[in-house]
Amino acid sequence: MKNDIIQLEITDITPEGFGVGRSGGKVVFVPDTAIGDFIEAKILKELKNHSFAKAESIITPSADRVASDCEVSAKCGGCVFRHISYNAEQKLKKSFVSGALSRIGGLEIPVGETVFGFEHEYRNKVQYPFAPDANGKCIFGYYARRSHRIVEHKKCPLQDKIFTDIAAFCAETANRLGIKAYDEAGGKGILRHLVMRKNRRGELLLCLVVAENTKTLEKLASAVKERFFEVIGIHININKRRDNVIFGEKTFCLFGKETLTDTLCGKSFELSPRAFYQVNAEMAEKLYNKAASYIPKKEEGSVILDLYCGAGTIGLCVAGGNDKLCGVEIIEDAVVNARKNAKLNQRSEENTLFVCGDASVGVKKCRECFGNPEIIIVDPPRKGLDIEVINTVVSASPERVIYISCDPATLARDCAELEKRGYKAQEATPFDLFPRTGHVESVVCLVRRD
Ligand code: SAH
Repeated sequence: MKNDIIQLEITDITPEGFGVGRSGGKVVFVPDTAIGDFIEAKILKELKNHSFAKAESIITPSADRVASDCEVSAKCGGCVFRHISYNAEQKLKKSFVSGALSRIGGLEIPVGETVFGFEHEYRNKVQYPFAPDANGKCIFGYYARRSHRIVEHKKCPLQDKIFTDIAAFCAETANRLGIKAYDEAGGKGILRHLVMRKNRRGELLLCLVVAENTKTLEKLASAVKERFFEVIGIHININKRRDNVIFGEKTFCLFGKETLTDTLCGKSFELSPRAFYQVNAEMAEKLYNKAASYIPKKEEGSVILDLYCGAGTIGLCVAGGNDKLCGVEIIEDAVVNARKNAKLNQRSEENTLFVCGDASVGVKKCRECFGNPEIIIVDPPRKGLDIEVINTVVSASPERVIYISCDPATLARDCAELEKRGYKAQEATPFDLFPRTGHVESVVCLVRRD
């Protein structure tokens, strides 16, 4: 019952960061706990099959526990694993992937150890929301868990300090210039988000998302560029929507460069503010190399279809000179980047096609230009593949489907569907692109049963 005090052992953790234990035959979820903790907890909410509780005291701590190295980790919604060792986190992430594949997909396939890299300052992209504080002053930070309340901070261990310094300078300058932060509840104010991306050379491209364009934004931008020589361009995106989607439709360059160029797997990529790009470049290289290892090398080349291709990164990293590459992506700016990136990396025009459209048109476009795809790479957003996309993939009957996923649950669901329709999932490998958070990326190779 609510407010009851219970004792329990934590035996598992969910990707949302809830410790899982059992009491009175019921599953109990307790945040901020670790596997092996024996705790005293207070029931906060009791439902039919499970309860939520809060740890009141830790009677015996788990061997996985470490002290948090972030001042705001107890409040901030960004990380969920700052209280356990990074090694324990890697084991958990492997279990998220194997657990989803077996429970949701009914698939018993080998799952490799989590491939990992640096757990600090790995992010190359930061999106800070701005909001007014109680006095109307502009503040920034990350949202608290399951809320839109801003948790202010001076340093975030996931990213280079320059991101926080630039945001702090923007907020300060906005306050000085009288530019108001956007208030979500009232729909009033100007500054909504600051989106920043940094390349390996340390250059930054900024995008200020604003509810409306005003002249004073130019003053803000020029103050930022004066203060931070690393900033090579500032863009404005106008978002008048009342929901919590970050970007609006219109983006323009206020000063400096249109795109930021970064390198991945020895190739160069130009990126617009709106183009998707993996936030952890070091780990993205490892992930793409794994995907490349699943493509059989044929002297005459293969026809490769890269669905959900973003700025063309995966296809351009994995395709050989003789391969024919067709990429499909829904965001137009990203497709423009992909076409430019093909040229930048000396791909022949006859062998390369990037199309703007829904993933379900990919097979048709690829056939029109290069013939039936032999390899299909899919890298969808968290919701996974729509059934129309699965239908077109299956209709093409490629030798292999290489599935890159950021959500083990939809990966498992889609792999199970592909298994029903003539494919065999061979193996899965988790990649920790987002250390200290609950997210895990994985790649599965599916082979056609002949
Ligand atoms: N493969 C790329 C991007 C992966 S993220 C990389 O590794 O960098 C997923 C991409 O799918 C995003 O670029 C997003 O804009 C795109 N996308 C989302 N829905 C889509 C759809 N219905 N059809 C095609 N692309 C879509």
